[in-house]
Amino acid sequence: MRKSLVRIIKQKGIDNQAVLKAIGKVPRHYFFDEIFVEHAYQDKAFPIGEGQTISQPYTVAFQTQLLGVAPGDRVLEIGTGSGYQACILCELGVKLYTIEFQRKLYSEAKVMLPQMGYQPMLFHGDGSLGLPQFAPYDAIIVTAGAPSIPSALVKQLKDGGRLIIPVGDNRSQKMVKLTKVNEKQIKKEEFDRFSFVPLLGAEGWDK
Ligand code: SAM
Repeated sequence: MRKSLVRIIKQKGIDNQAVLKAIGKVPRHYFFDEIFVEHAYQDKAFPIGEGQTISQPYTVAFQTQLLGVAPGDRVLEIGTGSGYQACILCELGVKLYTIEFQRKLYSEAKVMLPQMGYQPMLFHGDGSLGLPQFAPYDAIIVTAGAPSIPSALVKQLKDGGRLIIPVGDNRSQKMVKLTKVNEKQIKKEEFDRFSFVPLLGAEGWDK
């Protein structure tokens, strides 16, 4: 079933071999209750409680491909959620810091990910402010829809670092890639529209 999911994602345009290999390896069904397990390898988002979702595999692959990471890169993920995206990033060999706003989801991921053999650094808190104590990062991925680009996240990127963030209203967001060329020069690229749950917190929709 995972192989067929990889084929679907490839047909939709994902061509990064490392990303496809990671999607083909991470057991997404671990994040589903037994009664919903047949949904695990369909290319769609699914509720995980607390009004949140495990992202659609294509969306995970699309954001990961845009991140352009290499093994050993320092990466920050905002919105751990189920932890599925975190597993994909761990498969790519990055040093991952991931932060989740909802305590229940944070606690569940903290138990689940080590059981699956993944060891990212997990935090509970408001990721719209980033995680300055471990900055700078080679790449930052935001997995919730933001009203605007939080300046704290741009500040926490290395020169050459990338920020992938969906920006828009609470129904639909444009995927944005910012590359911090240096302190004075930021390159902005825009991609397709997606539909994410809202980014909460001080630089999210609680602003
Ligand atoms: N990456 C996740 C996965 O693979 O399951 C997708 C998670 S879901 C689409 C977005 C997550 O962002 C939710 O779990 C939500 O609680 C979290 N979130 C929203 N605002 C946040 C914030 N300010 N800081 C950290 N996490 C946040």
